[in-house]
Amino acid sequence: MSDKSVYQVLLYYQYVTIPEPELFAAEHLAYCKELGLKGRILIASEGINGTVSGTVEQTEQYMKHMHANPLFASMVFKIDEVEGHVFGKMFVRYKKELVTLRYDKELDPNTYTGKHLSPVEFHEYLQRDDVIVLDGRNDYEFDLGHFRGAIKPEVETFKEFPEWIRQNMSEYKDRPILTYCTGGIRCEKLTGVLMDEGFTNVFQLDGGIVTYGKDPEVQGRLFDGKCYVFDERISVPINRTDEQVVVGRCHHCDSPAETFINCVDDSCHKQHIVCDSCLEEHHGFCSSECEEHVTAG
Ligand SMILES: [Zn+2]
Ligand SMILES: [Zn+2]
Repeated sequence: MSDKSVYQVLLYYQYVTIPEPELFAAEHLAYCKELGLKGRILIASEGINGTVSGTVEQTEQYMKHMHANPLFASMVFKIDEVEGHVFGKMFVRYKKELVTLRYDKELDPNTYTGKHLSPVEFHEYLQRDDVIVLDGRNDYEFDLGHFRGAIKPEVETFKEFPEWIRQNMSEYKDRPILTYCTGGIRCEKLTGVLMDEGFTNVFQLDGGIVTYGKDPEVQGRLFDGKCYVFDERISVPINRTDEQVVVGRCHHCDSPAETFINCVDDSCHKQHIVCDSCLEEHHGFCSSECEEHVTAG
């Protein structure tokens, strides 16, 4: 561990019934602020999903505090070392659901979900020729990096998955389906939907891509590109072998690139990948329309 990394980022979730979630959210915000953490935490009656940064001391204190609560006693924290905060503020928000799917049935992710595979097991499955690998994230996350051979879902938000699956996956109902997402929370629900839709052999990557990248044995092998994360880092490396590939492509010139920016036109704000020379040439705009729109005032 280098001396520079005195901060940590935590990523975690748990599906568990939280009584009085709105009250819990308010108290939790006060606690996190007092501790000095920054980040984003969602609270729903179905559980908690958070990512926070702080000094090693603050984050260790937070994990101890959470584990002392019987609701979160078994919660798994994924820990990354960083050089400072990766959020500007501390948010704790109450939401109706942690992740939302447009689906007519309520499926309990604790009892009705795909089989969990450890990184080592997932890596073995990835190499079979009968498996279908489905990326459980949004299209822009896929574009920056994904498991080799994975299907890109053409969805802009998670809600759209059930409809997309019905239209695009029905021929694979008896094939082993491997799903994965950043930290695992989305696949807990996505695999339930797949099972309910008649898929017979559904698996999910336990702990998501982030955990896979830390596994000492697989070392991120077969993950190409970088993993999109929802904090100021924007992306993190996963594959630590010598087989690293850049899969991102510049929105303007299609050359390999991995920098994500938002269009500087506030009325657009489109997130896109840009190479260094196009960033200079287009001044951070996603299109000439956006640039003209702003410079014309
Ligand atoms: Zn370019
Ligand atoms: Zn734009």
